[in-house]
Amino acid sequence: MHDPLLNGYPSPENPSRLDRILNYLSEKRYLDDGRCYLFRSEPATIEDILRVHTEEYVASVTASIQQSRKNLGKDTYLCEGSFDVLLQSVGAVLRAGEVVANGACDHSFALVRPPGHHAGKNTSGGFCVFNNSAILVHFLRDIFRIKRVAILNIDAHASDGTYGIFSADPDVLCISIHQDPSKIYPHTGFIKDIGIRPALGFSINMEMPLRSGNKEYGILFEDVIEKVMIKFDPEIVILECGFDAYHKESLSQLDLTIDGYYSIIDFLASRWKVVCLLEGGYHEDIGLLAAIVLEGLMGRRTIKDEIDQIDLLASRHVNTRKEFQEKLSRLKLILSPYWDLDKPVSCQVR
Ligand SMILES: [Zn+2]
Repeated sequence: MHDPLLNGYPSPENPSRLDRILNYLSEKRYLDDGRCYLFRSEPATIEDILRVHTEEYVASVTASIQQSRKNLGKDTYLCEGSFDVLLQSVGAVLRAGEVVANGACDHSFALVRPPGHHAGKNTSGGFCVFNNSAILVHFLRDIFRIKRVAILNIDAHASDGTYGIFSADPDVLCISIHQDPSKIYPHTGFIKDIGIRPALGFSINMEMPLRSGNKEYGILFEDVIEKVMIKFDPEIVILECGFDAYHKESLSQLDLTIDGYYSIIDFLASRWKVVCLLEGGYHEDIGLLAAIVLEGLMGRRTIKDEIDQIDLLASRHVNTRKEFQEKLSRLKLILSPYWDLDKPVSCQVR
């Protein structure tokens, strides 16, 4: 069990998150409808972890579990059973990658916790200990000889750990769409952060203004993400699937609804092989959100969006769209030397 206290208080990142997802999916019979399968997995090995993290860091994780405070730093606490859960969690991520890479499934969704995208090679952060997507990229390279991978983060918090690991790697396209980090953890991941040589332009960070929602995400995908991803032509897409960009989430201030999540997943799954990894998201609707991801992966929509878009618009800051357009223009300008964003794109859709 990985159920640590956070500064002595219960953490929002706790076992109830996965319980809610599994209960919802089994209640609504997603797991036995003949198109969606539940795979079990083995724990990862230390060798798997060491494809990304250093031996010193792994030792510091185990040492921290022995201490009474069990504090790994930057809001990341552990408990007695954490290491076993971490290995199981990475094992599930690798299995999710394997079933897509070997052709058993078109897409997959690893229901895992704790999340991983804030973890760097030697650093923990924001509940994250091991970087699941980075470990998966190296596994896919070593075992399946997969070269080009795109990682897309839609968690409300910037994917700073993943960015740090791949910022100089032109075989990995790292895109993170997150709430303006000047206002929220991890306070990095600005538009100007586009990677370092020889991978300049292969990292993209978009700062979404407070209360950005389906419309703003839609424009961003159409104007930038689709064009870049088609040009990059990934063999597999890893989605860092955080649900805290959901409009009811209290830890962050974005406004994606069921419609918004479905559109993003459908956009990816109709073009590429997608491995989704659960990142953050703490609202009790997490089961519903996981279900809409499965529907997006299967290209079959049954869940309706209950939100009244007019109510949602009424809660917005007046400047959201204006601020978004300014940021989008800046993003396009900074990416223009690396990607041709003016050309119309064509791509085969499912
Ligand atoms: Zn988050």
